Amino acid sequence: MAKQFQKIPIVDAARRCGLVLNDRTLGRTEVEASCPFCGDHGRGKYHLSLNTDMDVYRCNLCGAHGNSVTLYANVKKISTKEAYHDLAGGSNTYLMPVQPESKYNERQPAALAERSAVYEEMLSFLTLSDRHRANLRERGLSDERIAENGYKSMPEREADRRLLARLVRMDHDLLGIPGFYMRYGEWTLAGPSGFLIPVRDKDGLIQGLKIRLDGENNPKRKYRWLSSRDKHLPNGTRSYSWVHVTGDRTRRRAFITEGPLKGDVASFLAKDALFVCTGGVNATHGLRETLEELGVTEVVEAMDMDQMVNPQVRNGILAMRKEVMKIPNLKYSKYTWNPAYKGVDDYFLSRVAAM
Ligand SMILES: [Zn+2]
Repeated sequence: MAKQFQKIPIVDAARRCGLVLNDRTLGRTEVEASCPFCGDHGRGKYHLSLNTDMDVYRCNLCGAHGNSVTLYANVKKISTKEAYHDLAGGSNTYLMPVQPESKYNERQPAALAERSAVYEEMLSFLTLSDRHRANLRERGLSDERIAENGYKSMPEREADRRLLARLVRMDHDLLGIPGFYMRYGEWTLAGPSGFLIPVRDKDGLIQGLKIRLDGENNPKRKYRWLSSRDKHLPNGTRSYSWVHVTGDRTRRRAFITEGPLKGDVASFLAKDALFVCTGGVNATHGLRETLEELGVTEVVEAMDMDQMVNPQVRNGILAMRKEVMKIPNLKYSKYTWNPAYKGVDDYFLSRVAAM
């Protein structure tokens, strides 16, 4: 006989998992807790959001998400069946809240102004290879815009990377700059070969650099942050997934898409339309704040057309939408186009080509 499933309050499940809750948010629709999966940035940070309407959770830092049963199952490392049995069966064991160990106790990036200064200087020493220029032109960018946006090729040879680090070090400290680390006592640059895409904040400062990899066919792995997070890279620094702003920042309407290069291209093809680009559908940290700081009154979602097919990606987009819609009096709409074109950049390019 089918048994009616019982509603399991998310806060109750979280308490039974021993999660640390933010007292100030108790009783609200969204209750904050320390994330047991990534440990936030350490004590006193609450990136795990517990939605008491839907009884679901989501970490705004690591993207972990699910419902009351899967939260309990994942924390306790048991099956969802066992978890449901425990929670619904009313075994009244509540664990003492325990502060999770942060995964983020590695070196944090230097302040934005310093990162931007280092990256600007670093890019000024680099060139763009003919092959990479051809790739950018094919996307529809003009030579002028390519120069303006500052794309450059990663130096391939180790000797060139060491030389680059030496030049930049004459004016700047490289400790705390994602991408740089020490090798045999000398500063150098980590990362695969490819071309660099500057990721800029609302004022045009460089938050970080993304690399469009050479010779990578899997579209999901084509882009990577310039980072020296690996523990095998002495004095290295992690990167975050920063939000990229491109186009005319005085516009009141912003398009949201995934990927900085896609946004750069689409903005150029659409006469400098303002684009705000996330690093991934689950990497929307800072998106709402950026839109608010830009003072936009209208947001148009222009994510890839195939994205709503994958349930995990779909949930990420829905969470993003919900977050953005928290902005008061915001007009929100979805941009749709012929699904034969995957991304908004492909679509704009086809229209430009037809003119
Ligand atoms: Zn987390």
